[in-house]
Amino acid sequence: MQKDSDIKAMAIDFARIGKWNYLAHTIREIERRLCVERRITYHIVISNSPTAKHLSTMFYYTAGCDIVLLDDENQVNDKDLRILLAHELGHIAYNRCNIETLTGWSHSSSDEEELFAWKFAYFLLRRRNDDHKNGVGRDYIFSEDHLERSIVRVVKNGRPDLYESVREFVYGVKNQK
Ligand SMILES: [Zn+2]
Repeated sequence: MQKDSDIKAMAIDFARIGKWNYLAHTIREIERRLCVERRITYHIVISNSPTAKHLSTMFYYTAGCDIVLLDDENQVNDKDLRILLAHELGHIAYNRCNIETLTGWSHSSSDEEELFAWKFAYFLLRRRNDDHKNGVGRDYIFSEDHLERSIVRVVKNGRPDLYESVREFVYGVKNQK
């Protein structure tokens, strides 16, 4: 059986938020739509490299693409990084009907595609900015005690046989804090 401390370390590792998951909801949504509407499995992976030659580049392969963003605060700030990323996502949106046929480094695209990608970036960030102001997407943050009560209630309904063990665990851990 795995130790609670190992499970905790793994969960915390997967909960990390960093530059590599900026715009994560949008990326997930693009992948989901390609799956639902086109029945293709496509993975968009972001990496941040301190030695990247360009502010942003994209490498396409059949089952996905790597978006490489320069990770150098002297050359690109966080907001610009989001704009660059949103722009690259715009290229994916533009090519959504045949994205799996693109391979290799992104090359110079048509003016039409570039313009589409910049407009997409603008509308996307505008919307997310508005959502943020209106508190959308923050509902999942649990208030004090709410997390514990909610988990215990969900388990009680779904797996009543585990109710006592989970309740004991959750409140045991909470009271150690
Ligand atoms: Zn572009």
